[in-house]
Amino acid sequence: PAPVLEAVDVTVHYPVHHGPRGETVHALENASLRLRPGRTVALVGESGSGKSTFARTLALAQEPTSGSILLHGEPASARGRRARRAYARRVQMVLQDPFGSLNPLHRVRYLLERPLRLHGSVTGREDVEQRLRALLERVRLTPPERFLDAFPHELSGGQRQRVAIARALAVQPEVLLGDELVSMLDVSIRLEILNLLAALRDEEHLAMLYITHDIAGARYFTDEIAVMYAGEIVEYGTAEDVTQTPAHPYTRLLLDSTPDPDRMEFLAGRTNDVEDTAPDAADDDYGEPPDLVRPPSGCRFHPRCPFARPECSTDRPPRVQVADGHWAHCWLLVQPAAEETRAPSATT
Ligand code: ATP
Ligand code: SF4
Ligand code: MG
Repeated sequence: PAPVLEAVDVTVHYPVHHGPRGETVHALENASLRLRPGRTVALVGESGSGKSTFARTLALAQEPTSGSILLHGEPASARGRRARRAYARRVQMVLQDPFGSLNPLHRVRYLLERPLRLHGSVTGREDVEQRLRALLERVRLTPPERFLDAFPHELSGGQRQRVAIARALAVQPEVLLGDELVSMLDVSIRLEILNLLAALRDEEHLAMLYITHDIAGARYFTDEIAVMYAGEIVEYGTAEDVTQTPAHPYTRLLLDSTPDPDRMEFLAGRTNDVEDTAPDAADDDYGEPPDLVRPPSGCRFHPRCPFARPECSTDRPPRVQVADGHWAHCWLLVQPAAEETRAPSATT
C-alpha cells in the first residue's frame, strides 16, 4: 500500500543557550521513513538517540531544521489552528506515561468526550453515549459502564494506557505514533497492550510507529525495524531481516544485550524486566552514548564500535543495501574483509 505518512531527509537541530555563543544539539540527521496503512514500523535505539524527536517531528509538534513530512504525498503543514487540528485528526500520538497525558481531574467520560466532540460529527447525548461505549469496547475496557465514570488514578497502569489509546482513536486517525507506550507498564501487561495494538492496526488499517528500547519485542510485534544511533537511522529492514541477519555492529550489540531472544516468553513475564537493563548493559561494555552537541566525526558509532577502521572516524559510511528492502550505513559492508564479516559478535 502507498504510504500515509512519510518523512524525507528530516534533520532536527536544537539550539541550546548556555555558554557565550550557544550550541546546537544534532538530534536527528537526514532521517527518512514511510508509514503504511495496516503496518507497523519500530524505531529502536538507546536513550537520547532521537526517537522522540523523530516522533514529534512526524506529529508536526517539532519543526524540522530541514527535510519534509508528507501526508499522502503532500507536504504537511501545521501553520494555524485549523491546519493543526486537521492534522491531529489524522495523526495521533500516544505517550509513555498516561499519568502525564491524562488529566487527573477528569473522569474517563470527559477525557474521551472532548476529542469526540472536537473532531467527530457527534449529534446529541445519545450518540455521544453510544460512541463512548464503542470506544471503550474497542480498547477492551468492558463493561464500559465500569470505566466511564472512573478517574485516571482509579485505574491500573494498563487500563490507563488503554484509555489513552481510546482517546487517540476517538478522532479516527490514520496514523498512530506510540512513544514507548508500554515501557512503564508491568512486563505481564505489556503483551496485552501490544496484542491490542496489533489488533487495532489490523482491524482499522492504522499505520503505526512503535518506539522502543527493546529490539526483541519490536521483532515480535512490528513489520519493519529502523535502528537509530545518535540521531541517525543506521539500519532498516523487515523485523525478521534486522533481527536474524543484522548488518550494523550497533544492531548486533543491541541484540546481544537482550538476554532472551524469544520474546514471547519475555513478554509473558517469565523473566525480569530486561528492557531497562539492556541498554545499560551495552553502555558498560562500549562506553558512554555520544554527546550530540559535538557528534563524533565519520561514523557516529566509531568511538564505541569494536570493528572500527581508520576510515570510520573520518568519513560518513554510505548506505549499503544488503538485501531487498534491508540496508545499513557501515564501512564493513562496502569492502568486507574476510576477518570481519564472519559473525563479529561471536568473537567478542
Ligand atoms: P529516550 O529513549 O530517553 O526517550 P530519545 O531517543 O527519545 O531518548 P530524544 O528525546 O529525541 O531521544 O533526544 C535526542 C537528543 O536531543 C538528546 O540528546 C536530547 O537531550 C536532545 N533534546 C531533546 N529535546 C530537546 C530540546 N527540546 N532541546 C534541546 N535538546 C533536546
Ligand atoms: Fe563500526 Fe565503522 Fe561500521 Fe561505523 S562504519 S559501524 S565504526 S565498522
Ligand atoms: Mg524518547
